[in-house]
Amino acid sequence: MFYIIIFIFGLLFGSFFACIGYRIPNKISTIKPNSFCPKCKTELKWYMNIPLFSYIFLKGKCAYCKEKINIFYPLVEVCTALLYIFLFWVYGLSFNFLIGIVLISVFIITSITDFRYFYISDRVIVIGIILILILNYLSFGYGIFIYKVISGISMFFFMYLIKIIGDKLFKRESLGGGDIKLMAFIGSSIGFIPSLFSIFLASIIALPASLIIKNKEGIVPFGPFLLFASIFMWFLNIDIDLLSFLFI
Ligand SMILES: [Zn+2]
Repeated sequence: MFYIIIFIFGLLFGSFFACIGYRIPNKISTIKPNSFCPKCKTELKWYMNIPLFSYIFLKGKCAYCKEKINIFYPLVEVCTALLYIFLFWVYGLSFNFLIGIVLISVFIITSITDFRYFYISDRVIVIGIILILILNYLSFGYGIFIYKVISGISMFFFMYLIKIIGDKLFKRESLGGGDIKLMAFIGSSIGFIPSLFSIFLASIIALPASLIIKNKEGIVPFGPFLLFASIFMWFLNIDIDLLSFLFI
């Protein structure tokens, strides 16, 4: 029963993420207007806007102009739902489940905006940090909360330092501002030492991937790799974060 509820929630959240992943970089309000077809601009009726199911019963086409609906939308919905289900399967209804939901959600939105538009939303990062810090306070107490705040701030400056060095070394912009802000979210989510490992791991994964996904200017979006690596570190849950013990 829980699985069905979480699957439906996952589809709804996924649909919302796909929507804001398109709207925020294109500077369209996230509340108004209602969903519309990007081709003929006709506003969609509520039954044309049900995640996954509408795509299936409209056979992947706009009901008005028959323009093909991007397969990307149902794909994001299903991926989000499956990842939520996976988290529930591993953690049950717990704070870890909720922390995982925040991490996965920021990962999905950032992947959409960064891969498609080379854009990382400040709003998403700020909301992510607030949610993750509240969850840390509620589940681990005041000491760990303070530790995560310090981790977030120091990862921000650490990444900024890497950027300054990288810019000098490569004589061009090595890291985007979004990646630096994202590191504040990752630091406050998983702590200082796992964050350092994440940067290292993300660089290793991004290297071969950069040969495939590179745009004209030769920029590779680094944000999704950072988040992927940090979720992996969080999921491993190894006690490498010795610093955090000082705060318990
Ligand atoms: Zn249309």
